[in-house]
Formats: sequence, structure tokens, C-alpha cells
Amino acid sequence: MTNPAKYQPSEREQAFLSTVENGKYNRGIVTGIGKFMSGDVPEEMRDFYSADELAALTELDGSQRDVQARMPVKITRHYFEQAKKSRPMQVLIKASPNETADLEGAEDPGKQMDYSPVEGLIHKYELGLIYVASTCSAHCRFCYREELIAKKEVTRPDGTVAPKGLARIEELVPYILEHNRLVAENGGRHPETGREKLREILMSGGDPMVLGNKNIAAWLAALAEAGIESIRIGTKELAFFPDRFDETFMAMLDRFHETYPEVNLRMMVHFNHPDEFLKKAEDGSYIEQPAGGLEWLDNTRAAVRRLRARNWINVDNQAPIIKGINNDPDALRVMQRELKRSGVENHYFFCGRDIVGYKAFNVPIEEAWQILNESQKGLSGVETHARLSITHYKGKTEVAAVTNEPIPGLPGAENGVVILKLLRSAADAPDRAKVTIVGRNPEAIWFSGYDDRVLFDEAGLYSIYGIDLLARSNAA
Ligand code: SF4
Repeated sequence: MTNPAKYQPSEREQAFLSTVENGKYNRGIVTGIGKFMSGDVPEEMRDFYSADELAALTELDGSQRDVQARMPVKITRHYFEQAKKSRPMQVLIKASPNETADLEGAEDPGKQMDYSPVEGLIHKYELGLIYVASTCSAHCRFCYREELIAKKEVTRPDGTVAPKGLARIEELVPYILEHNRLVAENGGRHPETGREKLREILMSGGDPMVLGNKNIAAWLAALAEAGIESIRIGTKELAFFPDRFDETFMAMLDRFHETYPEVNLRMMVHFNHPDEFLKKAEDGSYIEQPAGGLEWLDNTRAAVRRLRARNWINVDNQAPIIKGINNDPDALRVMQRELKRSGVENHYFFCGRDIVGYKAFNVPIEEAWQILNESQKGLSGVETHARLSITHYKGKTEVAAVTNEPIPGLPGAENGVVILKLLRSAADAPDRAKVTIVGRNPEAIWFSGYDDRVLFDEAGLYSIYGIDLLARSNAA
């Protein structure tokens, strides 16, 4: 393999980058269960794991059920301070033997490597997702990038086996330019893949916000120079360490916007539960503000205000619904209302993915739909924009409806049906909005739970399992 040519920033890019300063941050991170075992953590953190919890985890060390081999343990001081008062936050951040009780799951969830033409890039639809960091300030136990963060070996379509690598500017920019050149020359579609112009990039990982400002700025500028029209930064840093969104970071974004005013920026933030950003009274309740709404943590509030003060930055929240964390309609109702009130859009809720150990985390699909539906009762139209999505290998799919009543005359629908709608086909656009209807199975936590009850499959979600749908419908 030859090394790509060194990337040469343009004059405009260099002028922008020369203005950027890195901030200094003290996240007070504790990494690894060993620190809790040895007591090598600040005194107030010593009881975060009980002696019994530590003993149970130690017993699994080095075995197939080693929880840290599945997903490394990491927590910030800020998250700890909130989690002390919040059972859901503890479930999110504390390792548990339960995670490795059943290790079923995909080594490469979503078969992302099938869509990776360049190391660190997942190219689906008109969107590219790039891995720019392989860690976050803290680690969610349910992480759907556990294979990247735990540096697990993954089999690629060409049969080679290696951990997933990060994207590099010198490889990514030529790929974008070449893809978009071919698309332009071919009347708006790539001649081989049929894809459209690559116009959006989601910076992800891991969390891009663990990088310094200079590093983030280098990515933003390179993507803008390559013709990317919209850049998203996927981050949970507002929950893990909101002080990262300080004036130094905002100054970098301001310079970026002055230099590339045509590029849209979106912060795709990740709150799972309102405990992550709301203040609590002694009795554990949220605190009403005299003028309406609930009181936020001061530094989280300040971070969101800084972002929202810039009308060229959009802020959207998206989060999975996870057992023991936010499978709670009341918590989700508060979260959706408070986020919208503060200018954060509710974008997606997700069903958990088929990661290794997913049975410990995933809420059954129909239950997740009921929870979200229940949580949105009493909210206004603008507060209920979030949809429930489940990521199929074929593309992002909405759990659009679950009926409680049978559909008369439709065999297999005696217990009601689930209607799935393909929001985006990963390969190309024509299948968008097609639906699949399956008979209900309240136990199903993944698509495979409906393998034996597919009633209608216009979206083709089940054709990959080799089901002869025509024969099935004829027999019915
Ligand atoms: S913030 Fe996202 S990438 Fe990071 S550990 Fe949590 S789920 Fe994984």
C-alpha cells in the first residue's frame, strides 16, 4: 500500500487554522475498574462501586466474560457528580457482569465495513460518517461503537482481519473530490454505485470533542475545502464534560463560520436522560423555575446557550432507548420538553443495535415504540419531532406504528402488526419510504425476532434472510 500524498491546506485554510487555539481542560477522568479496586480514585468516588460489585467484576477478569475487554470503563468527574444522584446514569456508566452474560451480537454492527471504501469512512446515502477519534471522555456501557473503542479485530469484506482505523484527511479529501467529480460528470449519480454527491459528513468515533480545537478545525476546514456543504459533529460531551464548549472552542467555530459561511454546522448531541442536564432537589425531584421550565446544570445550560446563540449552528439530540436507563416515558417526556425549550431539537430515538452483548441493553422493539409514544402524550407538536429508528443493514428504518388490534382478513395479524418504514436506503435512494409489515412479537429485540411473521415486505428488509416472500403471500 502506498502512502497518500501529504495534504496541502489552501491559503484560506491556513489563514483560518493560524487563528485557532487549543483550550486547557481538566476532565478528572478515571479509566479502568482497577482504579476503583485499588482505591486510586478521589475519596468521594471510592464508594461508586460497592465491594460486592467490584468482587463480581474481578472474578470475570481475563475470562471470556471480561467486561472491560468488551468495553473499557471510563468516567469523567462531571458525570460522576451527577450519577451519584441518578440510578439511570449509574446504569449507563458502571460496568456490570450482566453485560457479558450472553455475548451474542455482531462483530461489525450494521455491516459498516461493507460501506467503507476508505479507512475510517462509512459512505452511505449522500452522507459520509468518519471516525476521527477512538474514545470519548467517558464510555457508555451500551456503546454501539464498542468494537472501535475496544479496538476489536473486525473481518472486512476482502477477508482481512484488523481493528477499525481512523480517517485521515490526506485519504478522505481525495476520495470526496473524486467521488463528486464522477457524480458531476455522470449527471448527478455515481456511474457505479448510483449514489449522489457526497455533501454531508458526520464527524464521529468515539467523540470528536476529545480532540483539541486545532485538530477539529483542521477537519472542518479540509471538509469545507473539499466541497462538503453540511458538517455534523456527533458528541456526548455536553453530558460528559460540558465545559469543553468554552469560549476558546466557540471562537474557533466563529472563525470557521467567517471563513466558510456557506457550510452548515450541526451538533448531534446525545442525552439519554434528563438527569444528565437538570438540577435536582434534596428529595431527588427536578427544580421548577418561577418563570416556567426546570433548572438546568449551570455549565450545561451555558454550553447550550453558547451554541444556540449562533444561528448558523443547529443542535439536535439523538439517543437509544436502553433498559434501565431511559425506558421510562416520564423521563423521556421531561427530556423532550426541556431540550426543545432550550433550542435543542429532538431528532431520533433508536432501538438498541445488535452489538456484542445486546441482550443486556436492548428494550424490545414494540416496547420501545410504546414508551416513546407514551412519552409524547401531552407534549406539543414541535416537542414530538423525534421518531423511533432501528438501523437495518439496508438502511435507517422507522418503527412507524404498532397496532393493538388484529387487522381483519389478514392472516398473521391476529395480535396486531408492526409497520416499519425505510427512511433511507444505505445503497441508494429509490427504496425510501417503502414499508414492511410484520405480525407482532413483543419479545423481539432485533429484526430477526420477526423472521417467521413477515406479512408484507415492500422495503425488502427481510429478503436478506432468504425468505421467499412471494410464496408466503401466495400461501396466505
Ligand atoms: S458517547 Fe457514543 S461513542 Fe462514546 S461511548 Fe457513548 S455511545 Fe459510545
